[in-house]
Amino acid sequence: MLQVKKFVFNPFMENTYVLFDETNACVIIDPGCVEKDEENELTEFIQSNNLIVKQLINTHCHIDHVLGNAFVKRKFNVPLIIHPIEEAMLRAVKSYASNYGFSHYQDSTPDSFLNEGDQVVFGNQKLEVLFVPGHSPGHIAFYDAATKILIGGDVLFENSIGRTDLPGGDYDTLINSIHQKFFTLPDDVTVYCGHGSETSIGFEKRTNPFCAIAQ
Ligand SMILES: [Zn+2]
Ligand SMILES: [Zn+2]
Repeated sequence: MLQVKKFVFNPFMENTYVLFDETNACVIIDPGCVEKDEENELTEFIQSNNLIVKQLINTHCHIDHVLGNAFVKRKFNVPLIIHPIEEAMLRAVKSYASNYGFSHYQDSTPDSFLNEGDQVVFGNQKLEVLFVPGHSPGHIAFYDAATKILIGGDVLFENSIGRTDLPGGDYDTLINSIHQKFFTLPDDVTVYCGHGSETSIGFEKRTNPFCAIAQ
């Protein structure tokens, strides 16, 4: 069964996720680790649970979600996988990283790509890839129907939504993504967000001030 381990890394308080199952295979999603102690925390979890890292995946390539990409690629010798539209966002990070105080940011390049309808396959898992642009133009999310787990990135938060004022962001596109891709999932799906605590599809449908469905 799919299990989720969450870490909160870097000054943006970004949620880094390790997904794993009974085979000990795992994938790392959005590694935001930037300090040595954050890198150690991630490594220690992987090693103490005897996990084998199969892939490194970004939901999208804003700086807070990719700060640890180079470290994870090097440390675990795994491919970086993103949506093709997001490659330009990833390439842009090095041009603005120092503005946020990350003068030692190390660039990373994707090794392969995921599109809507593809699957993230590792261990006994097959996660569905959802294309959910709006916060970022090539944003993807990962859904496991068996456990009703959604790794949603910066699309939907507890009573909030992702910002749309960054390059490539678009408010109407984001609201459409939420309604068409997230709110069509069962109400009891748990959403693991890119920041803050978990929420559920049903809770956000009822209470989210940006996109609640009137009942
Ligand atoms: Zn973001
Ligand atoms: Zn973020």
